[in-house]
Amino acid sequence: MRWSERQAAMLHEIGIRLWQPPQLEPGSTVSAPEAVAVEEVERPAAIAATPSLDEVAALGWDELREAVVACTACGLCKGRRQTVFGVGHPRAHWMIVGEAPGEQEDIQGEPFVGKSGQLLDNMLRAIGLGRADLPEVDADAAAARQVYIANTIKCRPPGNRNPEADELARCEPFLIRQVQLVQPKIILALGRFAVQSLLRSSEPVGRLRGRIHRYQGVPLIVSYHPAYLLRNPEDKAKAWDDLCLAVETAAAATPD
Ligand code: URA
Repeated sequence: MRWSERQAAMLHEIGIRLWQPPQLEPGSTVSAPEAVAVEEVERPAAIAATPSLDEVAALGWDELREAVVACTACGLCKGRRQTVFGVGHPRAHWMIVGEAPGEQEDIQGEPFVGKSGQLLDNMLRAIGLGRADLPEVDADAAAARQVYIANTIKCRPPGNRNPEADELARCEPFLIRQVQLVQPKIILALGRFAVQSLLRSSEPVGRLRGRIHRYQGVPLIVSYHPAYLLRNPEDKAKAWDDLCLAVETAAAATPD
């Protein structure tokens, strides 16, 4: 991959050292992509039951979003302003999985819009990706360049506390269905709760990063959560290595 001056400047800005990962196929031309709009949805009557895998397995995007909006499967529904479903291209090659909404996400209804989201956006931009639609590209290139971002938990835990095991388990069917619908070529799991949900592992992120895991047959790369990187900037270089491994892995999974 050759870095443009802009990308190099951006990497410098976010404190990431520059190195040259293996070359990617040059991008093609692009058309208006179909973005998943995050919009206010009228709240349907609440469902009390925990959504089961079977119940969500047949849902399309709209029904899945409605099921999330209506969910009262755990106590987090009581404190939320709104659910935070996910954002990005519905068939994105890259799926980013974070932990849980914070205050800004709870207000805006979109994942990663606070400070850690800005860092995530900068890191994605540095490898030519983004969450927003790209009006100048064709549909195939849009799916390659516009990511899909979701959290393991769709409601904000009070005071941004860590999600509990029971909350992760009750929310998991929604994430599983999102992965099935997107059918990504690569999943980037950010932070220990994403890893706990997706890989069923309680190993620390530092032990799981640096190699390729699999989730539902999809290659999965583990990396540090952006909020952790904001507190521990010395680990940004490792996160950059993780991104480069994900770029290589996604390229290998994408036919020419
Ligand atoms: N942290 C996350 O993991 N997800 C968000 O949406 C915001 C912060």
